[in-house]
Amino acid sequence: MSDGHRTLAGKVALVTGSTSGVGEGVARTLAAQGVDVMLNGFGSAADIEALRAGLAAEHSVRVHYDGADLARPAEVRRLVEKTIAAFGRLDILVNNAGIQHTAPIEEFPDERWDAVIALNLSAVFHAIKAALPQMKARDWGRIINIASAHGLVASVNKAAYIAAKHGVVGLTKVTALETARTRVTCNAICPGWVLTPLVAKQIEARAQEQAMTFDEAKAGLLQEKQPSKDFVTPEQIGALVCFLCSDSSEQITGVALNIDGGWLAQ
Ligand code: NAD
Repeated sequence: MSDGHRTLAGKVALVTGSTSGVGEGVARTLAAQGVDVMLNGFGSAADIEALRAGLAAEHSVRVHYDGADLARPAEVRRLVEKTIAAFGRLDILVNNAGIQHTAPIEEFPDERWDAVIALNLSAVFHAIKAALPQMKARDWGRIINIASAHGLVASVNKAAYIAAKHGVVGLTKVTALETARTRVTCNAICPGWVLTPLVAKQIEARAQEQAMTFDEAKAGLLQEKQPSKDFVTPEQIGALVCFLCSDSSEQITGVALNIDGGWLAQ
């Protein structure tokens, strides 16, 4: 999708967890299409301000930031309300913020289970609940949940993440059915491996466990799951988000679209 078209100019998007990785890529891609963006996530204040100001200047769009902790339902609601107050509307909700914890079930700390479910699943519910009335009233909306290949298949040692992501795929279908007679759609995107800080941590752990270099562990990770043996990029996910926001996708709702280098074809 070329920057020149700005096919979504004038729309307003909230992208959760957009200070890093996939969310940042999605925010960049939307801004390049002329979308005003509310950024959210953690990080250094200087880095976040550089991202915010850079996007606004580069693409001549309005960009705000709010550091709401989305593990807290009241903050999720406040973030949605703040977005609508700041921009006057909310057209596109990208539920992206997520965390990971890996351990076998018997050793999985209860508080890590609660934390992963709170952010990766419950926050998606609270954001959709808060955004829907306004989208329905304006009879247009796009809700895009960043699930995972792990929303459709499982792997060992990721009980909370996989339960949450399967939950997000189910929630996506319910939302699609409840909005089916409106011009609001809800879909999930299910990426395979994307080389972000979330995955770099897993590669580092793998390198340490198996006494290999980071690059060897990275190759092993891809080899195991992703037949393309290449990472999906945040920009590719951003382009898919933009397609799902376009008029062409009006009849696409309730689907879980994998973008995974062939992971799920196996
Ligand atoms: P990342 O760690 O690079 O980014 C996560 C973002 O979420 C950051 O902006 C972080 O500040 C924010 N965040 C963390 N806790 C938060 C909280 N409590 N409240 C608000 N924001 C919070 O990770 P990523 O790889 O870019 O992951 C983004 C999404 O993509 C996640 O939902 C993840 O499950 C999904 N995903 C990632 C991959 C991958 O291979 N990286 C694959 C499939 C799905």
